[in-house]
Amino acid sequence: MDMADGGRALVREHALIAGRPVTATETIRVDDPAEGTTLGAVPKLSAQQVESAVAAAVGAFPAWAATPAFERAGVLRRWAALIEQHTDALAAVMSLENGKPFGEARGEIAYANQFVHWFAGEAERMGGHAIESWSGADRVVTFKEPVGPVAAITPWNFPAAMVTRKLAPALAAGCTVVLKPASATPFTAIALVELALEAGAPPAALNVVTGDSGTVGRVLTGSPDIRKLSFTGSTPVGRKLMADCAPTLKRLSMELGGSAPGIVFDDADLERAVDGVTKGKFRNTGQSCVSINRVYVQRPLLETFVAGVEARMRTLKVGRPFEDGVEIGPLIDENGVRKVEEHAAGLREGGARLVIGGGRHALGGLFFQPTLLVGGDGTLLRGEETFGPLMAVFPFDDEAEILQRANATEFGLASYVFTESLDRAFRAARRIEAGMVGVNTGVISHAANPFGGIKQSGFGREGSIHGLDEYLQIKAVTLAGVG
Ligand code: NAP
Repeated sequence: MDMADGGRALVREHALIAGRPVTATETIRVDDPAEGTTLGAVPKLSAQQVESAVAAAVGAFPAWAATPAFERAGVLRRWAALIEQHTDALAAVMSLENGKPFGEARGEIAYANQFVHWFAGEAERMGGHAIESWSGADRVVTFKEPVGPVAAITPWNFPAAMVTRKLAPALAAGCTVVLKPASATPFTAIALVELALEAGAPPAALNVVTGDSGTVGRVLTGSPDIRKLSFTGSTPVGRKLMADCAPTLKRLSMELGGSAPGIVFDDADLERAVDGVTKGKFRNTGQSCVSINRVYVQRPLLETFVAGVEARMRTLKVGRPFEDGVEIGPLIDENGVRKVEEHAAGLREGGARLVIGGGRHALGGLFFQPTLLVGGDGTLLRGEETFGPLMAVFPFDDEAEILQRANATEFGLASYVFTESLDRAFRAARRIEAGMVGVNTGVISHAANPFGGIKQSGFGREGSIHGLDEYLQIKAVTLAGVG
């Protein structure tokens, strides 16, 4: 069996409610973006079916919340072991539905599994604290308790990691979940949840619903029994979901879009800057919320930097996910390709110089050439993520000016700074309006790091020592006349 067949074997064309496969007469097609073929379909659940998933999560909540944290951690550890054991097949199904190069998909499975390992440990460290009595006659202790049944809605660009980054802390905290994965990439999510159930998560504690996002969203946001929504996706959809959650006052985590600046100062180590910016840009074929959307290079270094990046980009192999050495895959769909085309055209109309690439790739379909443009007007990119393999480089002259330009966006997710000066690195890191700053690196994501944004990139932190708190509430208990 070759790798792709291993992935096909994981295609399950059903939702999962209380551990049971659920189908519907209407379906949503799932395509293979590299081949332009159909991989399968998932059910378009009715509102009543989604309600039954909510009822399952609500019914399972008391027992799961009462399960000792060490037992919940045990389930997570067994889940992590199964994910590791099935890495190749999980990566393959992801490559098939997302187009992600297989090597990179394997990397994402390992990254996704970091969250399962991490939150198994966090479950064991969960606890409140004791507070000094203000009167001397009583004691106050706090408990941390799970918020309740949770809805999780995830995007297509990281079909595994965005799922475990929510499900692992939710399970660790004692919450039950209804997950709605992106319609473009549901199979990775369903396969991951099946493994969690095999690891011993109670069947009704993890439910996967598929279907029309409006229908599913209305049930999940409208239900008074769902106590929290954790959403990763675009800013406009995040805003809408937040408004829809207002009547039931849900706890919210919003991991939204970005337009990350990458600032290369003239005292940067050229090799590190070229390497960091190229990795930060082209990971996931540029389809990442932390992807460098605007590269700013201080003028004295501009031409050597551009030459270095061009040389590196000429080595990037574009191709189908299962070909050896492929680093750039197809984009997710035709809209994705059109957006990159529009950004390339907009930059060129504004006077940008094309260094390499510029349009669709000879492979056809959804493949786009790695493209490097220098100069022009960057206004468009401050307001929109390109989400594709287009690197836009702009010159700048001084530090104060560039920090202002970097911050002239409604977004505030990731940012990157390249300099050999510790002083400048700290100054820039403190002034940049973003939830995350990479200094001399384009790689900032790890389960131990707090991941999240500010401004219109949302709020809440995933992973890290803060990630579990998103799923917990604090109860203060005052004990009169004790001790
Ligand atoms: P999207 O269009 O906002 O969709 C995200 C999820 O929301 C999908 O599951 C989608 O379902 C669902 N959805 C859409 N409309 C909905 C509605 N009215 N009610 C309920 N659910 C709804 O985003 P995307 O294109 O999948 O993902 C790319 C975006 O995610 C980018 O903006 C990227 O920056 C952001 N992102 C952010 C982070 C972060 O951590 N900050 C990480 C990764 C990605 P369907 O698939 O069925 O439409």
